[in-house]
Amino acid sequence: MKIKAQFGMVMNLDKCIGCHTCSITCNNTWTNRPGAEYMWWNNVETKPGIGYPKEWENQDKYKGGWQLRNGKIELKAGGRVSKLLNLFYNPNLAELDDYYEPWSYDYEHLLSSPGKKHQPVARPKSQITGEYMDIKWGPNWEDDLAGVYQTGQDDPNRKGIEERVKFEYEQTFMMYLPRICEHCMNPSCVASCPSGAIYKREEDGIVLVDQEACRSWRFCTTGCPYKKVYFNWKTHKAEKCTFCFPRIEAGMPTVCSETCVGRLRYIGIVFYDLDKVAEAAATANEKDLYEAHLGIFLDPHDPEVIKEARKAGYQEDWIEAAQQSPVYKLAVEQKIALPLHPEYRTLPMVWYIPPLSPVMSAFDGGLDGINPHVIFPQIDELRIPIEYLANMLSAGDTEVIRKVLKKMVAMRSYMRSLNLGKKPDQT
Ligand code: SF4
Ligand code: SF4
Repeated sequence: MKIKAQFGMVMNLDKCIGCHTCSITCNNTWTNRPGAEYMWWNNVETKPGIGYPKEWENQDKYKGGWQLRNGKIELKAGGRVSKLLNLFYNPNLAELDDYYEPWSYDYEHLLSSPGKKHQPVARPKSQITGEYMDIKWGPNWEDDLAGVYQTGQDDPNRKGIEERVKFEYEQTFMMYLPRICEHCMNPSCVASCPSGAIYKREEDGIVLVDQEACRSWRFCTTGCPYKKVYFNWKTHKAEKCTFCFPRIEAGMPTVCSETCVGRLRYIGIVFYDLDKVAEAAATANEKDLYEAHLGIFLDPHDPEVIKEARKAGYQEDWIEAAQQSPVYKLAVEQKIALPLHPEYRTLPMVWYIPPLSPVMSAFDGGLDGINPHVIFPQIDELRIPIEYLANMLSAGDTEVIRKVLKKMVAMRSYMRSLNLGKKPDQT
């Protein structure tokens, strides 16, 4: 056993209201400078929708992450031809239009124009070129148009469920997906970098870019399947979420967690066995990747693990933190948080509790949709189709989602009984 500690995050999607406070506070702290205007290390996207950058989940277009060949994993854009091609022209890079062009209103025009019956409409100006813009797309476009059928139709998570996602008011659904770098256990950005500039910190697994060592290749931006490495057009260096490591080292949470209005982000460390990572990432069947990922984690209460952790140099406060870690509890012990797109094989460390949307037929009966005896047989009638969540969080395995949602229903019912002063139904 080769023990390692790793920071991770769990986000409870039921609680995200899409307010973007996390994105703004992250932006004000880390990316509020020239060359980084278009970057959102933390972004919150509307689902169904094509996300940020556009169609980032389309791995045929961007060729990010790993693929399995002859029982081994290799980088999708890692062949000699792709690398040579990337030196001159990388057809798989997301371009500025795919992220969105940052803009400001022309305030001077708006404020200094003479009084009129109707004030002029301020046209947006590109922050980069200074030109007036004709905006055709931007993050959360799907929100503004509120037409799930039209705007979300390129979302690959809809695969196979078109007939259930019709453009009928009663059947539309919407949810938010906040995203940061996954600080993967098997990061393809690190493997893609020819300069060795991206590295995973020994002590806590946070993935960082050494700005001095970066040589502007941009293989990492292609190599990351989550599209969470960005290229600074002014410094010509790659940049990404740092998991707010200076704050973490000072015992503080990440900015996005501290400022989250929905209080939905949980941070913690877990211990895992480094020797099992490669084997888990090369699990043959995509649907088994989730279980393989869980199999890497070590029980921080196990005396053998505690002994190994001490031997590896982890202090008592780290061991205690791993024992109290909400990430370990929610993802590994209770199994209610799931990794985003496990089929990308990077073993991501941001986990999501899927949203528990209401059971459609429960409305007719006047039920509140939380009675576990009612909801269990009807769980396939949830407003957000289980298949949609499965395509996003369990490589299409609907059974995994069903199990999580049942636990969530039971827990909600139990807690509501307690809050109402009733004897909880423990069946
Ligand atoms: Fe690297 Fe983060 Fe992308 Fe994982 S999500 S491959 S750690 S940039
Ligand atoms: Fe969602 Fe929290 Fe971000 Fe608001 S601050 S968008 S609730 S994750």
